[in-house]
Amino acid sequence: TTQTEKTFFGQPAGLQTLFFTEMWERMSYYGMRMLLVLFMTATLQEGGLALTVASATAIYGLYTGCVYFMGLPGGWISDRLLGGQRAVWYGGLIIMFGHIVLAIPNDKTFFVGLILVILGTGLLKPNIAALVGQLYSDKDVRRDSGFAIYYMGINIGSILGNLICGYLMEYQGWHWAFGAAAIGMAIGLIQYKRTLPKLNSIGDKPESPLSPKGEKISWSIIIGVLGAIGIIAYMALTGGLTIDPVTVAEYVAISFTAIFVAYYVAIYWFGNLTTNEKKRLGALLLVCIASAFFWSGFEQAGSSMNLFARDYTDRFVGSFEVPTGWFQSLNSMFIVVLSPFFAALWINIGKRYVTPAYGIKCAVGLIIMASGFILMFLAAQWAASGLKVAPYWLIATYFLHTVGELCLSPVALSAISKLSPRRFAGQMMGVFVLTYSIGNIISGLLAGNFDPNAIDQLPQLYLQISLFSIGIGIMILLFSLKTRFWESLQDENDEKK
Ligand code: GLN
Repeated sequence: TTQTEKTFFGQPAGLQTLFFTEMWERMSYYGMRMLLVLFMTATLQEGGLALTVASATAIYGLYTGCVYFMGLPGGWISDRLLGGQRAVWYGGLIIMFGHIVLAIPNDKTFFVGLILVILGTGLLKPNIAALVGQLYSDKDVRRDSGFAIYYMGINIGSILGNLICGYLMEYQGWHWAFGAAAIGMAIGLIQYKRTLPKLNSIGDKPESPLSPKGEKISWSIIIGVLGAIGIIAYMALTGGLTIDPVTVAEYVAISFTAIFVAYYVAIYWFGNLTTNEKKRLGALLLVCIASAFFWSGFEQAGSSMNLFARDYTDRFVGSFEVPTGWFQSLNSMFIVVLSPFFAALWINIGKRYVTPAYGIKCAVGLIIMASGFILMFLAAQWAASGLKVAPYWLIATYFLHTVGELCLSPVALSAISKLSPRRFAGQMMGVFVLTYSIGNIISGLLAGNFDPNAIDQLPQLYLQISLFSIGIGIMILLFSLKTRFWESLQDENDEKK
């Protein structure tokens, strides 16, 4: 039995492999993400791209949106063609090359680097989470705490990235910082290869492979699409295609939502599901909806709340001015501190009462996050009256946002891995990661309403986000009272095992 096997904090040993790989991948992702807007808006003399704030933030929104969108094809490729292990490996390699390209000081290759990171992350991100899920059998009660530990790895990576790249950017220059992201991913890849045996056979081949002919056709289509992306990118870069980033972001948000619905419907009706699989997929839909709304609010962190920290927050401690960017790492730090507490909390609630359903936790997470914006509404009122507000407002908001995140995000990952049909493991994780994508783009569009010249509008913006999300959260809570029974339905053939 598992008792004699080596474990990682009481979890399956394979979690160690995936924990550190994802930690380094996130170090590279968040380290580079922090640089992005600053680099694009810096002047040419400063070594930047000298873009306007409007274009830079829209490109940033599109970039983060596309990163997560690519999880959809990435999940499919893993389920059908590569299997999880190889998908993560090649994804990591592509990400590393992307950061290497970004480290080259050249304007034109900059976007090539971004595209590589987008493609690689699509291949790695959903599939590594799906692999975590496959470490546990359906009955294994360690799944939720396993995801809590994994989520902590994500955030340790994020802290490392912010610190290392932030330091290098300040003292060595942009491209050293981009280079550090490449090195981080390289370390992740090396440790992945070295500790891969801990995964045993998990994800070593596709869950639902195609026929050799289907495989050939699929690869040709993939190469064709990549070619098309290359051509469009080339045209956009050389000016043959004029784009307004804000308009593009609006269309992309609508398209991604439509694709989410279409994909979900397709798996539901054409996925050959049993009745219980369908009901579990219904329960997961609530989790996905909660997630999309959650990130639409939460992701203001990098945009409007970042600007709020810069322009309207009193950042002096004595005569020392706290850098704006430091507020960005509060979230990850709170996660690392609070994670063990939350892991214990769910177990205790479970022991004393009943284990709260996934849908209920996610709804509660959304409501807590939304109530954080009430604080921003109050703080923005002070700011609108011309005062600089105390840093505690932002700190308290980030605290509530993090508590909400811990109720929703690791929980949702665990739910997806547990409740989706195994043969769609990668794709369902891709569908779920698409909710990050939708949330990121919508949050960018919402943040577009942050107008430094009309600061009196800001309280209204935060109040609307807050009330709207609380409303949605309450609706999800009510629905989840019903779907919580669907979550525990076992498969007919599972019973026989
Ligand atoms: N912090 C989480 C991660 O990196 C979620 C990111 C997101 O934007 N949804 O996995």
